[in-house]
Amino acid sequence: MSITDFVFAPQVQPSVAVRGSRQRYAVQRIFCVGRNYAAHAREMGGNPDREPPFYFTKPANALLPSGSVMAYPPGTQNLHYEMELVVAIGAPVFRVTPQAAGAAVWGYAAGLDMTRRDLQAEAKAAGRPWDTAKGFENSAVITELVPLAETGELKAGAITLAVNGSEKQRGDLSDMIWSVPEIIANLSQFYHLQPGDLIYTGTPEGVGAVKPGDRLSGRIEGLGELSLEIGAAD
Ligand code: MN
Repeated sequence: MSITDFVFAPQVQPSVAVRGSRQRYAVQRIFCVGRNYAAHAREMGGNPDREPPFYFTKPANALLPSGSVMAYPPGTQNLHYEMELVVAIGAPVFRVTPQAAGAAVWGYAAGLDMTRRDLQAEAKAAGRPWDTAKGFENSAVITELVPLAETGELKAGAITLAVNGSEKQRGDLSDMIWSVPEIIANLSQFYHLQPGDLIYTGTPEGVGAVKPGDRLSGRIEGLGELSLEIGAAD
């Protein structure tokens, strides 16, 4: 196919930078885990028991590189941060066991699942979808990916987020209700996971609102650091 086969020129393929490489990771889908840290499940009014994980998605063109200025998005008065470990899939998996799922991890990034909390609360109350709350432009902030070969399997380590230098979120990857291999195994019961699929694995407690001018800085031990500035309203 050539460009003249399309009525509009195709968009550039969404992708994420890879640390220490000129090559990029082409992104097809972004899956996000709902509640995956007990203390955050409680702060959202939920049940921290080990009920099965649930998912929502963001479009691949919601990606925004760490270090960016994110325009305060339209349609919300309550934009929240959620600091998360992001997993990049590197091999096709379908109905995989947790024991075999770890081999599908290509690498990791740190990410922010930016959320219009007011719209999410309205959607929850009405039993409606979360798309406008979760799947909006620039809502999937992400650092460079780091190959698993460089980090080793990330099972434990501090995950933190500060706003204007004041710590707001602190958890440990070992506090996840569902581990990364368990998430991949569960998600693969519903999807043929493929290279190009990212999974945002949930956030620890301490989520909160940001406003224009705020500077966010996050860190995942053994992986790296993330930054974001909130800009003027779009
Ligand atoms: Mn989240």
